[in-house]
Amino acid sequence: MSNLHKEYAVPTSFTAGGHTFKILLGKDIDTDGAIGITKFLQCEIRLRTHLDGEALSVSQVQQTYFHEKAHVMMMILNQDELNSNEPFIDNLGQIDFQISRTEKY
Ligand SMILES: [Zn+2]
Repeated sequence: MSNLHKEYAVPTSFTAGGHTFKILLGKDIDTDGAIGITKFLQCEIRLRTHLDGEALSVSQVQQTYFHEKAHVMMMILNQDELNSNEPFIDNLGQIDFQISRTEKY
């Protein structure tokens, strides 16, 4: 795991539906102008750590990760309509974010 992945506490990869998605993270990573994007054909989630030269907070990067992960889940489930419903995706991502970061073992 890279130092950047550790710093932002996002994984380097996960496998869903038999597809292994890489999580790429960086200051200048190509996200088509967004702060995060999922490239389904390349099996990549790309996350920016900076926007307009300003650093995003750890929680902002994490929230973007969970948002993009929600897109992957809907794609794997063939839920195209839900996958294009950004408020739904954002809510699902928020719930996953909160559960994942508050789980106790
Ligand atoms: Zn989205």
